[in-house]
Amino acid sequence: WKEKVRKPDWLKRSVPGGDKYVDIKSKLRELKLHTVCEEARCPNIGECWGGGDGHTATATIMLMGDTCTRGCRFCAVKTSRAPPPLDPDEPENTAKAVAAWGIDYVVLTSVDRDDLPDGGAAHISATIRKLKEKTDGKLLVEALVPDFQGDTGSVELIARSGLDVYAHNVETVPRLQSVVRDRRANWEQSLSTLRAAKASGARITKTSLMLGCGEQPAEVIAAMQELRDNGVDVVTLGQYMRPTKRHMPVVDFVTPEAFSGYESSAKNMGFVYAAAGPMVRSSYRAGEFYLSSVLR
Ligand code: SF4
Ligand code: SF4
Repeated sequence: WKEKVRKPDWLKRSVPGGDKYVDIKSKLRELKLHTVCEEARCPNIGECWGGGDGHTATATIMLMGDTCTRGCRFCAVKTSRAPPPLDPDEPENTAKAVAAWGIDYVVLTSVDRDDLPDGGAAHISATIRKLKEKTDGKLLVEALVPDFQGDTGSVELIARSGLDVYAHNVETVPRLQSVVRDRRANWEQSLSTLRAAKASGARITKTSLMLGCGEQPAEVIAAMQELRDNGVDVVTLGQYMRPTKRHMPVVDFVTPEAFSGYESSAKNMGFVYAAAGPMVRSSYRAGEFYLSSVLR
């Protein structure tokens, strides 16, 4: 596969910096935490970790190892049918480290573990409970979780763990699901887990779409409307960037103006919060959206 289009100027970003950023980075080494922010070399790291100036310091931690049982065509995480077993101490150790770290908002994410009977739901919910316990409930927790193959028991376990935001990404419009995602994932299954999370009491549900995969504008609008009709509260839209040449190519680079248009459409549909832009990732400055949505 060849990349069909050149990267436009609006996707260039300055190098992260700032005192808070440097402080967090050195603390991370001591705490032996693995962040998606660093591992994915996310260009938003300076803004997310930076905090200060009224910003909420946010970071994304990856749970359940670095090997996924699925192989989505956009994703750089390695794949295996039988990843190593879970570390039973991870919930406790992660909670201890994040509490000591001093950030305001944490996004917990994970690989998919289709090899485990509950997909890792008990492990994730234990981590959320411990994080809340160790921070007297002050740390805001978003969990970006797998589809658990549509298993509502797993969804309920997470939704009732005390988290603030239940997130699951549909990734792309319905027509392109089988092109972009692993064959075990699909639109309806993902949507059903977001519905189940809301029905189980999750206060805020959130999802994300990557654009630039060949979707048409009308399909993006229809997808957002369907998400809203299913009770999803927050949507983010960003540009797909190919991690390596072995991954799915970018079909087009969506302009910042087109992203703004989608953001306005989402707000008109009644999403509690919507963020759309070339550099937006599902966890991009996630703390801010939370505060702005609950303080409204
Ligand atoms: Fe990557 Fe998630 Fe797909 Fe696994 S399920 S390959 S971690 S996007
Ligand atoms: Fe980390 Fe997400 Fe922010 Fe990137 S957008 S720096 S992955 S929290």
